[in-house]
Amino acid sequence: MNIEEHAEELASDLGVDKAEVKRDLENLVEYSVPVDEAKGNLRRKYGDGGGNTTPASKDIADIATGDSNVSVTAVVLTAGKRSIRYQGEDQVIYEGQLADETGRIDFTSWVEFGHDPGDTLRLGNAGVREWEGDPELNIGQETSVETVEEAIDVDDEVGGDAALAELSPGDRGVDVEVTPLEVESKVIDGRDGETEILSGVLADETARLPFTDWDPHGEVEEGASVRVENAYIREFRGAPSVNVSEFSRVSRLERAVEATESAPHLDVGEAVASDGLFDVEVTGNVVGVRDGSGLVERCPECGRVTQNGQCRQHGAVDAEDDLRTKLIFDDGTGTLTVVLDDELTAEVYGGGLEAAREHARDAMDREVVADTIRGELVGRAFRTRGSLSVDDFGATLDAAEFAETGGDPADRAEALLAEAGR
Ligand SMILES: [Zn+2]
Repeated sequence: MNIEEHAEELASDLGVDKAEVKRDLENLVEYSVPVDEAKGNLRRKYGDGGGNTTPASKDIADIATGDSNVSVTAVVLTAGKRSIRYQGEDQVIYEGQLADETGRIDFTSWVEFGHDPGDTLRLGNAGVREWEGDPELNIGQETSVETVEEAIDVDDEVGGDAALAELSPGDRGVDVEVTPLEVESKVIDGRDGETEILSGVLADETARLPFTDWDPHGEVEEGASVRVENAYIREFRGAPSVNVSEFSRVSRLERAVEATESAPHLDVGEAVASDGLFDVEVTGNVVGVRDGSGLVERCPECGRVTQNGQCRQHGAVDAEDDLRTKLIFDDGTGTLTVVLDDELTAEVYGGGLEAAREHARDAMDREVVADTIRGELVGRAFRTRGSLSVDDFGATLDAAEFAETGGDPADRAEALLAEAGR
């Protein structure tokens, strides 16, 4: 059955207007609600078969993605507001987190949500949908929302105040105190035509993160110290990014926010388990140099590394020489790929592009460059810092810094290789 047919069935069962039911059904399906669940929702909404009773109250920890509707009493931890483009129109939605004694859960409200962090609410008949494997509450027309006096003892901190190092993609209603380190004004072709936005890098005492201000706030200036309220966090190139919108409040701070000079230092295992990090430092051993390292050729159109003058996207091209290194980096807790650009590769190789070309010509083999790098690096310990992205194929750190560590690298490498049975 298609939506049309489902709507017809519902309209006839419930004795209500088909166009109305169809609109509701399309709304729910658009938000990834499975069609059977959406129909169940609408049957309840339109009062089919006495099913219009408020669903049973649940503890947050007991809410499962299979639930269709629940009632919950919970404290508002965060509440943010933003605008999304939905079926060609701008719609304001409210998002945040709720908590009770048993746990916390994300929510989205499709109707006006005039409650602040700290308020205790009784939600009757909230929808449940799955978002990336976890249940999330949906507050809509059919949900009753009451403020209650009851105090709930939650472990979670109420309010959106967060340090940059704690943020992950999906966080909403976030408040940060930061100093913009880089601010660039750009005109983009947005959903309403050409729009000016600001983008760059923010820092606080704990970390640096990229940001976008979709509705440029004058307070966002390089070197200023500002408080940003009601920001949301998205993933940008595999790392969290702070999004400031027309609903965010930005104000100058009396105090000066100090930008951290250092990046958080993580075990490789922790880094690999993250959602990606804009600026991170790891220490470990080089256990290998991947193919496609040393003197490589790139497509002049897209910059991809080519094989035998063939670009995956552009076919046969007049490829250009470049230096690049992809290292397998391991500290015993996990493995990631570290990519060195042309400059860092020249440092570890001990010569630039010209030297590499000459070396390859003399040996009549381009692989000698990668072999030299392999001989220099494998088995030694390094500290590297850069931007980490994580996808299904593993974790990749684009190095901005790469330097040998002190201590006893030989011992560590030997121990590691012994552990690996080599
Ligand atoms: Zn190409």
